[in-house]
Amino acid sequence: MDSCLFCRIIGKEIPARVVYEDEALLAFEDIRPQAPVHILLIPKAHFSSLDGADDARQDVLGRLLLKARDLARERGLDRTGYRVVLNTGPDSGQEVFHIHFHLLGGRKMSWPPG
Ligand code: AMP
Ligand code: ZN
Repeated sequence: MDSCLFCRIIGKEIPARVVYEDEALLAFEDIRPQAPVHILLIPKAHFSSLDGADDARQDVLGRLLLKARDLARERGLDRTGYRVVLNTGPDSGQEVFHIHFHLLGGRKMSWPPG
């Protein structure tokens, strides 16, 4: 997807502060952090959203979640808690239509979200 912002980050056409990479996943710091830790985790294979995921995405979705857990632990967030967010569609505020989990932590968060 030439026009997709996150595909261009995967392709190194756009710089990002990468914190983890393997053959299937990329994690990098959000450009507009909403918490002291704000990392985006994406699959390298493009699909738009959770609603755009077919059942064959089960493995990569699980890998993304468990990598969010690992990155949280590496930063000590397992001691204080953290939030993993998956915005899906217009009402959620999803802006980039390449699926991504947000890992947010390092401050107290409120509920319900805005
Ligand atoms: P969402 O609203 O769930 O689609 O989240 C998109 C996120 O991508 C936002 O938190 C943005 O700050 C973030 N973002 C947009 N452009 C970039 C970029 N070039 N590098 C890192 N994060 C970005
Ligand atoms: Zn993409």
